[in-house]
Amino acid sequence: MIDLRNLTIPKAHDHFKNGDFTVTDLANEYLNVIKEKNGDINAYIEVYDDVLTQAKVAEDMFKNGTATLLTGIPIALKDNMLFDGHIVSASSKILENYKATYDSFVVKELKEQGAVFLGRANMDEFAMGSSTETSAQGITRNPIDITRVPGGSSGGSCAAVAMQGALVALGSDTGGSVRQPAAFCGLVGMKPTYGSVSRSGIIAMASSLDQVGPIAKTVADAEILFNAINGYDKMDATSTPIELRLKPTVLKKRIGIPREFLKGDGIDNDVLKNFDEACQKLTNAGYELVDVSLPLIKYSLAVYYILQPAEVSSNLARYDGMRYGYHEENKSLIEVYKKSRGNGFGKEVRRRIILGTYILSHGYYDAYYNASVLVRKAIRRELMSAFDDVDAIITPTSPFPPFKFGAKSKDPVSMYMSDIFLAPANIAGIPAISIPSGVNSEGLPLGLQIMAPFLREDILFTIGKDFEKLV
Ligand code: GLN
Repeated sequence: MIDLRNLTIPKAHDHFKNGDFTVTDLANEYLNVIKEKNGDINAYIEVYDDVLTQAKVAEDMFKNGTATLLTGIPIALKDNMLFDGHIVSASSKILENYKATYDSFVVKELKEQGAVFLGRANMDEFAMGSSTETSAQGITRNPIDITRVPGGSSGGSCAAVAMQGALVALGSDTGGSVRQPAAFCGLVGMKPTYGSVSRSGIIAMASSLDQVGPIAKTVADAEILFNAINGYDKMDATSTPIELRLKPTVLKKRIGIPREFLKGDGIDNDVLKNFDEACQKLTNAGYELVDVSLPLIKYSLAVYYILQPAEVSSNLARYDGMRYGYHEENKSLIEVYKKSRGNGFGKEVRRRIILGTYILSHGYYDAYYNASVLVRKAIRRELMSAFDDVDAIITPTSPFPPFKFGAKSKDPVSMYMSDIFLAPANIAGIPAISIPSGVNSEGLPLGLQIMAPFLREDILFTIGKDFEKLV
């Protein structure tokens, strides 16, 4: 038996090198766990049929001396990342049988290093949600407490790692979808700077906000996975050229706390208590904690819920039931559109398309869309200037612990509150990470969010590793 619970990327790599077990042995071990647990958890909606073929490729790389740290590492892929020849559906009925015809940038990079993709992880439909309850493929359960949600939208990716059904996973984060489920499942989840990781081959949701990020049990593993997918790609016009990327500098060891932002309604007392304890731990570790005034960041959520639906309404226009995906025959073209889109998309996705179309309609465009673009710029400026004085800014990851199924799905606004601390990083385009920070009085996992300036992911890893040792 391989000790999957304590396995990290460097440890697995050493075991492969020492011949303790092979890539195939490890892949089989994960496949067995998936067989045993996935029925209850539904982390995966498909286990790829070529896992052992991929494992053989990795074994050859060990034999011919081309193996890297990621060779043979079993990874769960969120169901919105194209993997050539495999179904990718954004967990929507409208793309149920859609097969990828090329590799996304992230898959291509990892494939070149011989990573082993285990399967497609469940997600909220088109990544809209915070609980993985909107998937057309059924809910995913939180392996820590199966009566509760795993968070979302990358709930399947996080549940896969939390149930020991993958060593690490990839998720996508548009408004918190890597960080929040990572916190709910007791894991590390990171959203890179917008432009650090190519979006080529990721099913587009809100293009000015989407980023792919790593999910892992440790900060070091998240860093290794991030380094493997981080890079310039000419296929993504928003990819940051290598020469513009920043080099690590010595830290000031000062961390900012946006006090007034933590005073809003609906923030759980246990969360605030845990956050205070986290601050104390960082102080003990030699960081100076200072209050920062960020009066605008509380508007990030409102801005997000204007820009996100607006971008969704235009990105999802391509699913018309004609070119590909779900199609319902009907008497006229307009009826085909209506039926295919009306029955192919789930309720939450339709809500956002309708909202977004309204926001972008003549007469409202200036009032909503353009106003939000201006507020977005102001939020970005506000955060940038705060970083003149501090290395990082911290908040809790989620205002509440993992909740029960159905607790928020009937009231969209209460579900949207999940993103209150997460949206600022997407709105500003800066990197952020969630690190496990302990448990609440019921033993449910909580997370600490660390945000850093543009392209300074290294700060997240440095502080993250320091903090991880203290929890
Ligand atoms: N919960 C947010 C939403 O529903 C964020 C989703 C995401 O980051 N993909 O839009």
